[in-house]
Amino acid sequence: MKRRHFLRQLGTGTLAAGALLGTGCQQQGTAEPAAAAPAAGFKPLKWKMVTTWPKNFPGLGTGANTLAKLITRMTGGRIQVKVYGAKELVPAFGVFDAVAGGTAELGHGASYYWKGKSEAAQFFSAVPFGLTAGEMNAWLYHGGGMELWRETYAPFGLIPMAAGNTGVQMAGWFNREINALEDLRGLKMRIPGLGGEVLARAGGVPVSMPGGELFTSLKSGAIDATEWVGPYNDLAFGLYKAAKYYYYPGWHEPGTTLEAIVNRKAFDALPEELQVIVQNAARVANQDMLAEYVARNNQALQTLVNEYGVELRKLPDTVLDRLRELSDQVVAEIADQDDLSQRVYASYRDFRTQVIQWHNISERAYLNARG
Ligand code: CA
Repeated sequence: MKRRHFLRQLGTGTLAAGALLGTGCQQQGTAEPAAAAPAAGFKPLKWKMVTTWPKNFPGLGTGANTLAKLITRMTGGRIQVKVYGAKELVPAFGVFDAVAGGTAELGHGASYYWKGKSEAAQFFSAVPFGLTAGEMNAWLYHGGGMELWRETYAPFGLIPMAAGNTGVQMAGWFNREINALEDLRGLKMRIPGLGGEVLARAGGVPVSMPGGELFTSLKSGAIDATEWVGPYNDLAFGLYKAAKYYYYPGWHEPGTTLEAIVNRKAFDALPEELQVIVQNAARVANQDMLAEYVARNNQALQTLVNEYGVELRKLPDTVLDRLRELSDQVVAEIADQDDLSQRVYASYRDFRTQVIQWHNISERAYLNARG
């Protein structure tokens, strides 16, 4: 395929993702992207990608690997991306500053980690009772969300891109039954971000800790409950050995968007065709991660329930109703922080209102009908 034709197809999104994935995404667990031979006369760029995940961590770390491979192969080796797991080059939560400062050209993480940089950043990953994966992509790509995300990161010299999605997460692992709101009172639970704030207002005690510490803390009783992601990732961490009840749905993370961040100077220095490739590689990686989670979560869930005897429970409607009310308050309060947060909140809220109307008569009606 002639390169210009290839790029035109990328720009209009008509190229089948599978054609790219077939060469770039199927070998998981190998973090080193194979370097293709670069075009004659072009000095290959060596880009570093720092990540907030343990290297090769299923779904999240391998999603970062996917993006690195896509960029390396789609550019014919003109950009060669090397992935670094958390702590290899910088700590997990040092990713934002590392890419902003040019230590690395690329980063892979989630925007709610950067609340300390900008309150508005929280809207671009997950909001309790907010948008699902498909709705997040709709808001970002066609609802004004991406423009606001770019504006949010512009002061830091960063360009954000959606680069993965977990889909609806699980509510988490509990060593205590939750039959009423009172059961959340005093509950020590690892739950970061806005979800944690909501739990606090419901009387719980949110705790923040990296994923690697969850199992030990839950097992020892240092915490009563934890959320992580979903069956695929939670099985990998062995959380079923430390808690009895596995609750759903993940009201606090209904479709978490993962991000790629690019150093603006590095991006601006690229020829336009390479800029288009980087952006569209992120788009492919974004969709591919979601597909992987959907494909693997149920397999893992069956293992948890049928092989390990995990008790699957739905949070009672009364509890979910109250958490939703509290979430609305917590999320609306972010809008009070500054002008940008107000505008992002308004855009997100309006899009959510609209998409709920459509999805009530499409997704929801269909899923109910399918049974
Ligand atoms: Ca989570």
